Amino acid sequence: MSKYLLECAVWEITLKCNLSCLHCGSSAGEKRKTELDTSQALKICSDLKDAGCLSVALMGGEPFLRADFWDIAARIRELGMDLSVITNGTIFKEDFFEKLKSLSPRAVAVSIDGAKKETHERIRGVNGCYEKSWKFINFALRAGLPVSVITTVSKLNIGELKEMSEQLMDKKIAWQIQTAGSEGERFSKEYLLDREEFYGVGVFIDWLRKTYSPYRLPVIGAHDLGYYSFFLNDLSIYGQWPGCQAGRSVIGIRSNGDILPCLSINDDRFAAGNALKTSISELWNNDRFWEAFRNFKKNDTGENCSSCDKFEECMGGCCEMSLMKTGKIRNDFYCFRSIEKENFSGFFGRLRLKLAEKKKSGFSGLPALRDIFLGKR
Ligand code: SF4
Ligand code: SF4
Repeated sequence: MSKYLLECAVWEITLKCNLSCLHCGSSAGEKRKTELDTSQALKICSDLKDAGCLSVALMGGEPFLRADFWDIAARIRELGMDLSVITNGTIFKEDFFEKLKSLSPRAVAVSIDGAKKETHERIRGVNGCYEKSWKFINFALRAGLPVSVITTVSKLNIGELKEMSEQLMDKKIAWQIQTAGSEGERFSKEYLLDREEFYGVGVFIDWLRKTYSPYRLPVIGAHDLGYYSFFLNDLSIYGQWPGCQAGRSVIGIRSNGDILPCLSINDDRFAAGNALKTSISELWNNDRFWEAFRNFKKNDTGENCSSCDKFEECMGGCCEMSLMKTGKIRNDFYCFRSIEKENFSGFFGRLRLKLAEKKKSGFSGLPALRDIFLGKR
């Protein structure tokens, strides 16, 4: 048995997608040639349970394009695992929301990438999808589902975050903000945030959390928005960044059964194996398959993190972002702490940082925020 507990599997149940988002890391569109059939997918559900998995997030491509979505989701719940769904919110029928409600999902997350229809549709690549996704959100809210909105920020939409916060206020919608990476084929690197913009997104989320109660606007920064800032509170629901959990409490599953340390680390060099050949339990419980994620030293990292005083706690930020920008894991280029250090250099700069760190008061709304994001609404 491994000492690692498999808390969450993020599962791309199909690569097929009806949209064509610029930032899509897996360049979804057509389904994979060798996607799991229904019986193989149901076997994966049991396999996850055997591996001790606590929760499963179904996504795509677009997960609702799989006709057997309902069988897979129902099996996950029958086996006692938590269920979340991540969707573009454009594929639904009238009876859909009550059916979804009966599965008691922990979260139904819909991607919205702009305050303006034109921006959202430019990023998502299909005209007419903005109204559809909002229709989905409103139906889901009416059915009493725990709805989240996920926004992926790039240069194309950073200017609309404030307006989006006004649109999402007082709607019982949990808002997750993340930043775009350039792994996908459709995303041009010129749209990537620079470090200043990245820091600005952090300041904005921190400000929202200080200004509005989590009941009015529950908002978090995703895994890629951190770490160990001298000035800003941690933007997650944890209070403190626990380090990248890829291969430590999280796995990703491709629609052909490939097992990755995280679905965002879409790189065959890091695949642990394929669930059709080796059970997930066998893969998970053997540290050998997860060397780079479970057995690493500070010396293994790169120039961005190797001299950091917080490396032991932080473990080098988000492995996906790090890989995308520097070709190495545990070498995150986007990091609040390093940006602050860069801007406050010299004796007095460092003193200022130390004082700021001491003065940081923490975020009092954390328990409420955590409940909201874990579906207790
Ligand atoms: S420099 Fe690296 S290890 Fe240090 S806080 Fe930033 S991401 Fe984490
Ligand atoms: S690679 Fe990034 S997104 Fe994946 S588990 Fe690590 S921090 Fe999270």
